[in-house]
Amino acid sequence: MKIICIGRNYANHAKELKNDLPTEPVIFLKPDTALLKDNGDFYLPSFSNNIHYELELIVKINKNGKKIDEKFAHKYFDEISVGIDFTARDKQDELKQKSLPWELAKAFDNSAVIGNFIPKNEFEDLQNIQISMQKNNKLVQQGNTKDMLFNIPKIISFVSQFITLRPGDIIFTGTPEGVGKVEIGDMLTGFIEDKKLFECRIK
Ligand code: MG
Repeated sequence: MKIICIGRNYANHAKELKNDLPTEPVIFLKPDTALLKDNGDFYLPSFSNNIHYELELIVKINKNGKKIDEKFAHKYFDEISVGIDFTARDKQDELKQKSLPWELAKAFDNSAVIGNFIPKNEFEDLQNIQISMQKNNKLVQQGNTKDMLFNIPKIISFVSQFITLRPGDIIFTGTPEGVGKVEIGDMLTGFIEDKKLFECRIK
């Protein structure tokens, strides 16, 4: 499986990192070794002094798909959740300055926290759901999927023009504003509406 991530998909997040708004989806990948499931602990890596959380809605692809039309994109996933796109912000700033790829800042081990998946049919409108995250029981990030610059069908269609989607692939759809640093001892908990879908202890 592979993990496909969308960058700068919420205007207010693009602004907080002083990035221009994209005119088409910004895409990067994480390998399967980045997966952190089942409420596993996250160990701060030694190569960074500034690991940030980015809470994101995630979707799980359910079948093979290539060059998917936007109007059929809904047939390619049944389940959604939230996850964290952990980012070594110091490393990313360094790479961005040199116009180099972001992989070292984004694709490291355990950098993709995955919550429990729930059926998408539990929600009337996937482009109007609240996602939120608490750090040590205090709200630190929240967003609504209506504020995505590129909605889920657009993302699936766009990605599949370039990369064949396979069952089990996971797409991170981008973070809303409010990203921040984690410290040893923090407890992160992720929600869709009032459903708690992951917790992650920083060690
Ligand atoms: Mg992200």
